[in-house]
Amino acid sequence: MTEPARWTAEDTEDAICCLCRVPGTLVHDVAPFGVVRCPQCELVFISPRLRLEALQQLYDDVGYFEGGVYGSGVSSDDGVPSAEGRWSPAMLLQRTWTAGRLALVDRERGGAPGGRLLEVGAGYGLFLAAAREAGWATSGVELSRTGAKHAQDTLGLDVFCGQLEDAPLEPGFDVVCAWDTAEHVPDPVSFWRSVRSLVAEDGVVAFSTPYVSSLPARLLGTRWWTLKPTEHIWHFTPRTHALLLARAGLALTRVVRSPLAPANAGRLDSLVGVARPIPGS
Ligand SMILES: [Zn+2]
Repeated sequence: MTEPARWTAEDTEDAICCLCRVPGTLVHDVAPFGVVRCPQCELVFISPRLRLEALQQLYDDVGYFEGGVYGSGVSSDDGVPSAEGRWSPAMLLQRTWTAGRLALVDRERGGAPGGRLLEVGAGYGLFLAAAREAGWATSGVELSRTGAKHAQDTLGLDVFCGQLEDAPLEPGFDVVCAWDTAEHVPDPVSFWRSVRSLVAEDGVVAFSTPYVSSLPARLLGTRWWTLKPTEHIWHFTPRTHALLLARAGLALTRVVRSPLAPANAGRLDSLVGVARPIPGS
């Protein structure tokens, strides 16, 4: 997606490290935004970043999911995948991830059948619909009104539109998934704490994010295609993921970086992680 050039310094606000509560030091100037790194824990984040109201405006834009892999195959007027879209390379990748991620979750749970699955950042609901088909009782949360409406009206899914902290959810989920979501949230520590409060003590948390220690990120700097400073306001590494999750009472137990793994197929700059509740935390 090309970034709209409409944002100015007035749409931005300064941010601090969500772990150490200190400002970052500048890595890249991408005015009106900045890519900064925490001097204490090395978490990379965007500051100044878009104000929350501007961010909501961005996610409500009907065009937000289009052009990206999440919107491909979903036409914006009736929400029905076109024959062309269904077999597009992006849609095939989407199907590979979905199948790979459902299989990963099954393996992590030792083959235990079904249960309750929550997806945070459900987008148009394609993963949730596949999970429901695989026998899960599904719930979703999605910030974009466009995405949530499609998931609710076209796919008949139970999706709450808003931030996770505000969602009326019954805790004790067997699985909580957050695919390409943690890099978008205002505060990852409070995000993972909410996830921790919702997952069962023997449950599994599965997520994906881009990572800033990946080869493309390191080689390309400001030309890294996933930098997107309007939307991706936190940039993690496996190490900072582990720090953040631990602060929220979750242990990072698996990291999948290979672009050959179905759950992460074709993704050179992203990882899939698995975390579990730390008992008593
Ligand atoms: Zn820090």
